[in-house]
Amino acid sequence: PIGKLSGKIALVTGASSGIGAATALALAQEGAAVALVARRQDRLEQVAQTIQDAGGRAAVIVADIAQPEQARNAVAQTVSQLGGLDILVNNAGLMLLGPVAGADSDDWHRMMDLNVLALMHLTQAAVEVMKPKQSGHIVNISSVSGRGASPTSAGYSATKWAVGGFSEGLRQEVRLDRIRVTVIEPGVVATELTDHITHQDTKTTYESRISTMVPLEAEDIAAAVVYATTQPERVNVNQLLIRPLDQG
Ligand code: NDP
Repeated sequence: PIGKLSGKIALVTGASSGIGAATALALAQEGAAVALVARRQDRLEQVAQTIQDAGGRAAVIVADIAQPEQARNAVAQTVSQLGGLDILVNNAGLMLLGPVAGADSDDWHRMMDLNVLALMHLTQAAVEVMKPKQSGHIVNISSVSGRGASPTSAGYSATKWAVGGFSEGLRQEVRLDRIRVTVIEPGVVATELTDHITHQDTKTTYESRISTMVPLEAEDIAAAVVYATTQPERVNVNQLLIRPLDQG
């Protein structure tokens, strides 16, 4: 497709489901070639097929980005398979809600490794590619939990506040290299995110809370990524907070 992102190359982490899959499709619809990164190869191939059927370009890169080497390698693979990197969307994440008291520290490690450190490693590798050409865009998917917190969100909020702090420092550093930084903070979006919650009481309570509202669709957040990345070069959309109307 020919669009505002024709000629651009994007990498989307967590492109096998939810917000990442919708974002990959939306960027491809605007003309970008898209590298699809996650662990589930079959799901990535379905997304790639949809993009290719519409006349777009996609590359499937199977990686566990919680492993620092695989995170950095995903950027290298994007450059070698698609020819460069203009837009990095750090979307992959885990939301393992539960009280601090009695929390499984394995949940904390998994969230820190993916939500924070993988994002940092991918960003570092992407900046190395973007800096020499003095252009690029890094989009980090945080959450309303990156601004506020509630009981059972302490661990998850800690990771998303970290994304906010990292992104703000990064913005100030890389704007001098003409690289833009955007943080997107969604409220409740209907995806597979809740499936992975290990604390069963919290999972049940959270699911019953969201069943009383009309959540956002993954496409609503994809549209925000497209908005931020299609602005003129002078425009640095730094933060977007998007809640469902039903969310208090
Ligand atoms: P999903 O669970 O649908 O998507 C998560 C994605 O992350 C999957 O594609 C998954 O792919 C990928 N992923 C998980 N672990 C790894 C790993 N180790 N290496 C590579 N990829 C991995 O949830 P969402 O689409 O909702 O989540 C996307 C982002 O949006 C997250 O950062 C989340 O925190 C954020 N968000 C979501 C909200 C919501 O209500 N849904 C609200 C606010 C923010 P695979 O399993 O194939 O590896």
